[in-house]
Amino acid sequence: MSTMFSNKNIQPVFTCPYCTKISSHNWESILENHYAVTGIGAQIPSHEIDKIVVAQCNLCHEKSYWFQQFDNVHPFLVYPKIAFNIDLPNNDMPRHIQDIYNEAALIADLSFGASASLSRLALEKLLIHLDYKNGRLVDKIDAIMADGKLSTESAIMMQAIRHDGNVGTHEGSINLQEDGEIPKFLLDSLNTLVDELITKPKVLSARLDKLPDAYKKGITTPENL
Ligand SMILES: [Zn+2]
Repeated sequence: MSTMFSNKNIQPVFTCPYCTKISSHNWESILENHYAVTGIGAQIPSHEIDKIVVAQCNLCHEKSYWFQQFDNVHPFLVYPKIAFNIDLPNNDMPRHIQDIYNEAALIADLSFGASASLSRLALEKLLIHLDYKNGRLVDKIDAIMADGKLSTESAIMMQAIRHDGNVGTHEGSINLQEDGEIPKFLLDSLNTLVDELITKPKVLSARLDKLPDAYKKGITTPENL
């Protein structure tokens, strides 16, 4: 995720950690620690003050909390806790799966096994969401592959998530030092799968809806495909 300030005055614009949209925020200091560097009663320059700031998103109205140290121009996010080196979940990922994704991202640096297991759980929930409800995860993957909905690359990503999630659950022995990139790979793969299985079909469907019915029928009937 990128967190970007384009205006730090009254309504800073940055990526909201909740709705993930770039939006303006009400930026209000709720706690200030003044440094008496210029003597009692002196005016303290604003850049010499530590601040806890509450920022309320003007789109989703959720509040995030930031700490701004007086000698550092860049405030850092205190709450909600998010993993900065891992992308936020795809917006089209169902909310209950986003919650699992975010949890997997938060612990990625601490426990490969736990993160991989959660990625596996997120994949299973995704397949159930897509109506592949029967059998074990491997059966669900086989079923969606049989339906021709997966590219070769996506099939590899699904199998990697399933396999590594199993390892995380049953062994937990993968070395985080050596394999530190894997939790991020699994989560990136989940985002890519959502893009392929939810976002792209949705975009195509919206485009088709704008076409004249006769033309649409002509290009989507089975004998023309
Ligand atoms: Zn927001």
